[in-house]
Amino acid sequence: MNILRAAIFHTPRNPFLAANALVSYADGALAIENGKVAACGDYSSVAKAHPDAAVRDLRGGYILPGFIDSHVHFPQVRILGGLGYGLLDWLEQLTLPEEARLADAAYASSIAQEFVAALAAHGTTTALAFGSHFAGATAALFTAAEERGLRIFSGLVLSDRLLRPELHQAPDAAYRDSKELIERFGPLRYAVTPRFAFSASEAILSVCQALVRENPSLLFTTHINESGQEIEQVARLFPSAADYLAVYERFDLIGTRSVLAHNVHPCTGELQRLAARGATIAHCPCSNAALGSGIFPMQRHIEANVRFALGTDVGGGTGFGMLKEGLQAYLMQRVASEPITLSPAQMLYLATRAGAEALRIEDQTGDFETGKAADLVYLRPPENSVLAGVLKGLESSERIIAALFTLAGTESVGAVHVDGHAIVDRRD
Ligand SMILES: [Zn+2]
Repeated sequence: MNILRAAIFHTPRNPFLAANALVSYADGALAIENGKVAACGDYSSVAKAHPDAAVRDLRGGYILPGFIDSHVHFPQVRILGGLGYGLLDWLEQLTLPEEARLADAAYASSIAQEFVAALAAHGTTTALAFGSHFAGATAALFTAAEERGLRIFSGLVLSDRLLRPELHQAPDAAYRDSKELIERFGPLRYAVTPRFAFSASEAILSVCQALVRENPSLLFTTHINESGQEIEQVARLFPSAADYLAVYERFDLIGTRSVLAHNVHPCTGELQRLAARGATIAHCPCSNAALGSGIFPMQRHIEANVRFALGTDVGGGTGFGMLKEGLQAYLMQRVASEPITLSPAQMLYLATRAGAEALRIEDQTGDFETGKAADLVYLRPPENSVLAGVLKGLESSERIIAALFTLAGTESVGAVHVDGHAIVDRRD
């Protein structure tokens, strides 16, 4: 058994529903055995209960559950920073040409390596990632994630219209390629992934329906209600659907294992049905601002009891940092038409446990309850950094967490563990 000694924060309960959801230990201990959390508490009591454990002294830094990115695109690493577009122009001019390059196996493999390295460097231990439109590239992502030890959920991205011809699949090929990937990498990490209703005909959505029906343990992920122009086009393409969500509902794709990105412009009926079906929204505030999509109506989601977690939406977003994403959620909700002041506990929850709940793995990861995977990020700001100065003398857990969300980047990520194994370790 190993004990990591440092300040520890986690949110085993939902701070939008429960008071005192934040659990913190100023001098904490995380005891790890066989890759799992054996104990989490005050150092003095954990050390006393496990006198033979090897102690690693990490005081001066902060241990948080590993971040969980509920929406990110593997083929878009190299288009980060493409500012100045709205969603549909951005797709056509920047994103789809780059995604087409992943037909090249060697290029796809190098992008997969870059992608998993970037997630790890930012402290992300689990992600629901859009794969590629190409089966080979999607396989390269699963392989890179396995090699790196990251917990990646993904799937072949399915589309058959209105993108670029080389990104379209015939429905029978989409079905066959998806089945092969599910067999090769197993159903537990697979997500059925039509790109969005805009680029998916009824034939492709029927393929998705068949895949989910044959294997109900699969996740389902796609986009919804992102930009005004997109929503208008989807209404035109599916004239019989009452709203955007109804397009997916008609193919039985919305349930407790569905994660839908954005939902910036939902109607009230959609919110009610999302709540009733137990689906989760991946909220991506950096992307929503960068693409000018709008401000996520968080208060309406809370009032309707719709679940939501955080996603970076690389490359529509502005990078892989889940701390930055949490800060952006905070900033945008401050100026939303129905403003919310997110608490530090809520920001931490959205970046960790809410993602585990979205992927239905909250019994495995997302906080430090006994028996869960030892998935963690150790933050330690560089000496003499602005953040190190801010943290000096701070004792309130809320103030410390708020400072970390505001100022910590990759330079503050000291170590990242998945299942107790270090996938990043910068301590010398
Ligand atoms: Zn996206």
